[in-house]
Amino acid sequence: MRIGVDLDNTIVCYDGLFHRLAMERGLIPPQLPPHKRAVRDYLRSRGQESLWTELQGIAYGSRIGEAVPFPGVQDFFAQCRRTQTDVLVISHRTRLPFIGEAVDLHLAARHWIDENRLLDCSRERQAEECVFLELTREAKICRVADLRCDCFIDDLPELLTDEAFPQRVARILFDPQGEHADHPAYRRAASWSEISHFLFGDIQTADRR
Ligand SMILES: [Mg+2]
Repeated sequence: MRIGVDLDNTIVCYDGLFHRLAMERGLIPPQLPPHKRAVRDYLRSRGQESLWTELQGIAYGSRIGEAVPFPGVQDFFAQCRRTQTDVLVISHRTRLPFIGEAVDLHLAARHWIDENRLLDCSRERQAEECVFLELTREAKICRVADLRCDCFIDDLPELLTDEAFPQRVARILFDPQGEHADHPAYRRAASWSEISHFLFGDIQTADRR
């Protein structure tokens, strides 16, 4: 089985980091919940879209090292190693931030993946063969098709329901805040342990015996 996984807001959790960046700059009240969406909605409600764009460039670039994997992500990757399941990171982001310091956002993402030791680098395959960062959503969908993923996990319903998305690929929507509706195109999961249970359920049980 080959599983493709999106990176930003699927593997990488930016909630605490966005809250911190906004607090450091005095942009939000401290009682605002530490969620990316709460920070975004607050800034937008005050007409500060460009500040939100600037924070994104910082979070995805120079400060990405402070972002953390979502709970259960490391167990999922460990489970893939144990079961020799092929897992690929397939994501898209711009090469440079729209506003702010010109940090290479692709390089920053690769460093984060290395630092968090998610991929099995003990195997002969190089990280370059497991991590595919594209510039557009269209290119990302083409990559999912070209790499013949059996399953793809993403936090964006609009990607999973895109008419160009290969129909044969099973889709899981990672929806930790329960923001989205069910849809016939995907199965919705609130956590990585739910995803692991769905994909490896029986094997996990066997491991624990
Ligand atoms: Mg994403």
